[in-house]
Amino acid sequence: MALSGLDIYKLLPKTNCRECGFVTCLAFAMQLAKKAVSVEKCPHIKEDVKMQLEASSLPPVKLITFGEGDNKLEIGNETVLFRHEEKFHHPCGIGFIIEDSATDAEIKTKLGKINQLKFERVGQQIKVNLVAIKQKKDKIRFAEAVRLATENSSLAYVLMSEDPEALRAALEFCAVKKPLIYRATAKNAAEISKLAQEFKVPVVASAVNLEEMAALTKELNNQGVSDIVLDTGSKSVKDKIWDLTQIRRLALKKSKRSLGFPVLSIIDTADPYEEIMEAATYIAKYAGIILLSGIESWQILSLLTLRQNIYTDPQKPLQIEPKLYQIGATSDKSPLLITTNFSLTYYTVLGEVEASKIPSYILSVDTEGMSVLTAWAAEKFTADKIADSMNKVDIGDMLAHKSLIIPGYVAVISGDLEDKTGWQIIVGPKEAAGIPSFLKNL
Ligand code: SF4
Repeated sequence: MALSGLDIYKLLPKTNCRECGFVTCLAFAMQLAKKAVSVEKCPHIKEDVKMQLEASSLPPVKLITFGEGDNKLEIGNETVLFRHEEKFHHPCGIGFIIEDSATDAEIKTKLGKINQLKFERVGQQIKVNLVAIKQKKDKIRFAEAVRLATENSSLAYVLMSEDPEALRAALEFCAVKKPLIYRATAKNAAEISKLAQEFKVPVVASAVNLEEMAALTKELNNQGVSDIVLDTGSKSVKDKIWDLTQIRRLALKKSKRSLGFPVLSIIDTADPYEEIMEAATYIAKYAGIILLSGIESWQILSLLTLRQNIYTDPQKPLQIEPKLYQIGATSDKSPLLITTNFSLTYYTVLGEVEASKIPSYILSVDTEGMSVLTAWAAEKFTADKIADSMNKVDIGDMLAHKSLIIPGYVAVISGDLEDKTGWQIIVGPKEAAGIPSFLKNL
């Protein structure tokens, strides 16, 4: 766990000799806590204290990277239990298991579908991240399936095999894509460690309980493997959540380095609804990777949406540029709607305006990313702010009318806004879903 400035100060020589460039040891400690200076700047710190300080500055959950190029996946490096405390940093990777017992044609068809699982939501592209090839046949078929997959999808890969020789056969040609290899157990840790070091790839450590897991990661560390992802095996949702929560708590609150790694969860159920509910549960708490079988768009879009929401910084709502947007082939007679620059609000309004098929203008006011009612309550969506936004874009020169449609929830500002702008204020629907019929009847 990271030490505070005062914790660090207690470990320093407290001579205020200034050799580090700071006037006092306390000033140096404060900078060290902010990671603004290196511990090496003080020549008087004892070796054991130095090691303690260096260890405290490591992230409690190690950052693990695999895959390549645009599909490189970074997981871990999380610092909090609850996103309102700060934010979650590295979104959980979402991937799919394909068994090598499938025919080449089946593998290609599945990969084709997986490659299409990309969506645009609130102005961001959201997509799946990885493919796991699981060995069911011999090592030659496993390597063939991995080759076929890597030729047909550039996503990140997990190689799933109990056989080190099968993993080696696949790594011989695909190590350059930096796959994650699954899995090291107490039985094969030595062989898997050798592979991980030879091919410079991260490893999944697999043990059913946390004591065994801690012992296994220590063994892997002793053998020179530090890029590790944890897997506590197939369990009930209740037990899995317990594992995921305990691992995160022990890493963050108890500085248990042997469990300070992201966790992989495999969803193992034939029911597509259960599969998605389970996956959603693990995304919320605290999986680094989830592997599924279902690849239907309706399943994946819901998970990607959930992940996008959870990994958005709660203190920085998704925002769009506050400006005038032209929707369709507008003219000087087109209606003008006003809304906030909170992405979700804007894109919801946009979708409904597009659905109305009536070319319109949408003026997005800078409300620092707040939605309509929140912004109004925080005095960020007031008559003054709206009038300012209208003046900035010279909207009066663009339109042959002087009518402004405001969201129904802020009908209360109509009078004030009319006084400030001199425009006719039309109160629109409260819910965006009412916009199409509203515009058609305007
Ligand atoms: Fe303190 Fe070390 Fe800096 Fe001297 S060099 S002031 S002992 S922190």
